[in-house]
Amino acid sequence: MDNVKIPKKIHLFSHDIKTKWRRNLREKEDCIGLADFDTNTIYLQISTKKNIICKEKQEQTYFHELAHMMLHYSGRDDLMKDETLVDVLGSMLRQVVGQFVSDLIP
Ligand SMILES: [Zn+2]
Repeated sequence: MDNVKIPKKIHLFSHDIKTKWRRNLREKEDCIGLADFDTNTIYLQISTKKNIICKEKQEQTYFHELAHMMLHYSGRDDLMKDETLVDVLGSMLRQVVGQFVSDLIP
């Protein structure tokens, strides 16, 4: 699958969803991605010598957290507990966005 660039910011309805890298997410929160609804921020663990995270995993994590944001702003926080569903939605989003990058019409 083509790599997708992770955006600094996207619009989701009327919300600006920011992306921020963190060096210590794994130590502090025991995760490599976090969707913070209070600040509309997706935090991602940056790859470090101690915590090597490949680009694909970072993308996958970004889209997983974006799926959390989408469900939250759909008013369906109840569905967010289903991490399998969130994971599948994130993978689908990544696949579709990847096609936008690779298969543009002339
Ligand atoms: Zn999750």
